[in-house]
Amino acid sequence: MEMETRPTKVGVLPCSGESEPEGTITRNAVRLVMEKYRPGLVVSLCLPLYLAGDGGERDFAKKVPVIAVDGCPKSCARLATEKYSGPVEASIDVRALLEQWGVTESLSRSHPGPIEDELAERVAREIVRLVDGLVEEGKVEVANV
Ligand code: SF4
Repeated sequence: MEMETRPTKVGVLPCSGESEPEGTITRNAVRLVMEKYRPGLVVSLCLPLYLAGDGGERDFAKKVPVIAVDGCPKSCARLATEKYSGPVEASIDVRALLEQWGVTESLSRSHPGPIEDELAERVAREIVRLVDGLVEEGKVEVANV
């Protein structure tokens, strides 16, 4: 009988969100998770390439548990994953999260400043919470987190 091996990475897929300030926060938050908070544990991919039909990219959610992070309720990253790869383990709607946090400032998509940077950090910590939850549930094999 073939032994089932657990994945060693978590996939975090941000939307491309160029036209929305929350999209910029989304991308920056995912970059923070990959580079600062959980380097080596989290992998991502390019949403436009995924949508363009790259076969390798579309194996993504079949090989690793995926957390989709979207800037707004249109949920482009989550819907693309569900359509081309499979169900996501978790998803975040950054706009809804900011509303929940009571953020009322007007945000810039092209010139993020201290407010946007702080929000990207907070969103990154939310993503980390979900990543660690998958590890705790045993869905990912890691030596040390
Ligand atoms: S989820 Fe919203 S912000 Fe992100 S790419 Fe789609 S429309 Fe743009």
